[in-house]
Amino acid sequence: MTVAWAKPPGDVAIQFAHNPAIPSAGTLVGERLYVNPDFIQRIGWTFSAGRGQMAVNGEGRNLRLPTKEIQGRPCIDILEAARLIGGKAEWSPDRKLVAIHGVVRSVEATDSTVRIDTTIGAKATAFRISDPPRLVVDITGVEVDLERLQPLPPNHRIGQFNANTVRYVIEAPDMARVKVPTFTKGRTILFSLTQFETKPAKAAPSPSSEPIQIRAVSLGDDGTAQAKLMVGFEGASGQRPSARYEGPTRIVLTLPNAVAPAGLEVRDNSSIVKSAAIRLNGPTSVSVVLETVRPLSFTVGQQGEVAYLKLRAPLFGGLAGRLIVVDAGHGGHDSGAKGGGTLEKANALDTAKRLAAELAEAGASVILTRDDDTFVTLNERPAVANRAGADLFISCHFNSNTVANSRSGTIIFYHRDDPEGKLLAECVRSVVAKRSDLPDLGTWSDQRIYQSGFAVLRGAEMPGVLLELGFINHATDRSKITDPAWRQAMAESVVEALRIYFSNGQ
Ligand SMILES: [Zn+2]
Repeated sequence: MTVAWAKPPGDVAIQFAHNPAIPSAGTLVGERLYVNPDFIQRIGWTFSAGRGQMAVNGEGRNLRLPTKEIQGRPCIDILEAARLIGGKAEWSPDRKLVAIHGVVRSVEATDSTVRIDTTIGAKATAFRISDPPRLVVDITGVEVDLERLQPLPPNHRIGQFNANTVRYVIEAPDMARVKVPTFTKGRTILFSLTQFETKPAKAAPSPSSEPIQIRAVSLGDDGTAQAKLMVGFEGASGQRPSARYEGPTRIVLTLPNAVAPAGLEVRDNSSIVKSAAIRLNGPTSVSVVLETVRPLSFTVGQQGEVAYLKLRAPLFGGLAGRLIVVDAGHGGHDSGAKGGGTLEKANALDTAKRLAAELAEAGASVILTRDDDTFVTLNERPAVANRAGADLFISCHFNSNTVANSRSGTIIFYHRDDPEGKLLAECVRSVVAKRSDLPDLGTWSDQRIYQSGFAVLRGAEMPGVLLELGFINHATDRSKITDPAWRQAMAESVVEALRIYFSNGQ
């Protein structure tokens, strides 16, 4: 698909940083989005137009940009300007709106002050919440790349709250009486954690820190593809149990702040769990380690004085006859990430086609969301899988971050806390980690990037994963990504992972 002239004057709305969207603000010409001097002034930038170019001062930076005359006025490409000042452009699926965000450049935090610098001026608001006492600062008009930030003090955290807002939270008893800061719009957000209200609020009582006593551990199933692990205890730790994979057929349930009597055994009456053992992680932390006969998804919970793990086998019986939708990320005018002259969209398409061919070879039915260089909206991609009643959805991407050569490795994403997606991701991770020859950055919930997760995974009604197979702006990763033999190995790795996922343990 080629993008033709948009109808002048502009038919693209632009939402710049924290400002509301301005309708008909830009004119799309090919891959460039032109704005006129009115728009430049409206976002608070200054400029002087010369012959064929414009000097622009925006966000503390001086830029010199070529101009294009549209309706008798000199216009500049706002996407290029945004890129030069360290902004990020996000298109809506129908390309009628582009949102331009700043990026968190750095965070310097101590117990007494926090300073957050952004590439484009942001709007910040703060408020307090209790139980436990926290100070929350919401910064609108920016995105954050957690990988490039310095470590924060242990009681501070930062994350992408929604597409347009970054949330910074400090959790400490003092936050019950800290003075709530106010901010002016700008590229620096600076506040104190040691200025207090004159009338202190009452501190919340701290929960009991007495460890719980584990009494009995039992495991049973109903003869089907489900099982339940139950850990009975006495006491109230105030800390929830958690569980994670250590490989597709090993699940570890951990009870923090717990003690277990010596020689405690697991009463095991399950046919889908091979072995269950107690592991002590320290004086007051106890785990139950399960080896399962085939990959199982899990959900962890607690009811009264019982912590539990519900286990479930996915569809099993092999890969043959399964319907898999393979999604090549980006396409058409959306190139995705780029680095060293190579585009994410092209490598994603090639990898997806190789994966489709390998899956077909293994007897599965495959649908590709695109099989050439076309643009497909984010909503349409999972819709293809939903309409077809697919068993799995697999989206192929390559990563990039704001600083070239700063980050290397593979990440397998699943949606929010979907147990099936998490299991599928663990299966893929286990094989890709062995065969990619790149650092294994693990499986990640897509909530680590956006509160609502990724649109393509959110929309899929079946288990899905999004593969980020290396960083295209890292030289080491790129040397692999651009190697057809490596892409073939990645396609074969995913097929092997799906064989594991669908295996019945025989
Ligand atoms: Zn991508």
